Amino acid sequence: MTAFVDIPSGSDFPLENLPYGVFIPSGSDRPRPGTAIGDWVVDLHALEEAGLLDTAVFSSTTLNNFMAAGRPVWKAVRARLQHLLSADSGELRDNETLRSAAFHRQSDVTMVMPADIGDYTDFYSSREHATNVGTMFRDPDNALLPNWLHLPVGYHGRASSVVISGTDIRRPQGQTKPGDGPPVFGPCRLLDFELELGFFTGPGNELGQPITIQNAADHIFGFVLVNDWSARDIQKWEYVPLGPFLAKNFATSISPWIVTLDALEPFRCAGPAQDPEPLPYLKGSGDWSYDIDLEVGIQPEGSAGDDVVCRSNFRYMYWNICQQLAHHSVTGCNIRPGDLLASGTISGPDKGSYGSMLELSWRGTNPIPMSDGSERKFLQDGDTVVMRGAAKKDGLRIGFGEVSGRILPAHKG
Ligand code: CA
Repeated sequence: MTAFVDIPSGSDFPLENLPYGVFIPSGSDRPRPGTAIGDWVVDLHALEEAGLLDTAVFSSTTLNNFMAAGRPVWKAVRARLQHLLSADSGELRDNETLRSAAFHRQSDVTMVMPADIGDYTDFYSSREHATNVGTMFRDPDNALLPNWLHLPVGYHGRASSVVISGTDIRRPQGQTKPGDGPPVFGPCRLLDFELELGFFTGPGNELGQPITIQNAADHIFGFVLVNDWSARDIQKWEYVPLGPFLAKNFATSISPWIVTLDALEPFRCAGPAQDPEPLPYLKGSGDWSYDIDLEVGIQPEGSAGDDVVCRSNFRYMYWNICQQLAHHSVTGCNIRPGDLLASGTISGPDKGSYGSMLELSWRGTNPIPMSDGSERKFLQDGDTVVMRGAAKKDGLRIGFGEVSGRILPAHKG
């Protein structure tokens, strides 16, 4: 497929991708839905107003209405956009007035939150990550808790503090318990990232009516990169018996472009073999993992670039997205358009593929050298964490762009 605009070689956004996001053009204050192609953003409301799309979902300042419309509409819009943007079609290419109104350079726009996120859930679906954490904090011989291989463990996170890439992250303060001493209050000392992918949902289910695993994919709109910022020292003291709370609620960063399941279809693959066999409500058909390369870089303050500290892949995840969604709703819990369900830290089998500093530095015992001569056990003030992802095969590249965030010092007092 060839687009009528130039796509730079190695671009994350060829005509086969067409991710969705929400942007504000320079000189405007109104967010509007768009798609990315090469170095451009295309204003979808402008196309809708001009009658080139027969939808009525893009006048909104979020993508929730589009997410609610469901897979047949998602597929039709994708096919229509691929046609409109292709070199073979003159409808948009030859309409100079519309083109100049609808096309914006990505470098000229501000990306904002793509959806109004009603609920955010975070899973814990990497066996390697759960095993590493269990080994460090409990017992190497029984690293996985007894439930882990039977259900996708997760917790309900905080939607209000999910922020778009580029948002600065304030080091949180909280209660910790150093060693055998009494609890103390102060800035988090063990600030960490977690490399994850998350998916946005739609149309969702009525309260009381579970989404079956067979229908789960019809309720999954697409993926973003997720950095689940984590305060390890706060987490360690607070998490028993109800799980993560303040250690996770201060910020979660997402990449601005939502890459659809349709764009990622060529990269579907089998996940790890599941033993024991899942219960019937978690037993679907087909391969629902995805071969997506992921990496994390840390850029110390004042450095020109980032040092890559982790290379992982989404296919390592033990529990897949259909199992996560079926499990989440099996009680009848209602999923709504624009909910965000994140994978959990994506760690692979080797040390360079661990998706958090906790694992990479093995709880601080193995500092990671940086190219500026410093080293990291956890994150320092001024560090910028950058995550990137792309699926690659036979010359096709479906990229995610990146999610980044810089650490600001804790508030005083
Ligand atoms: Ca997490």
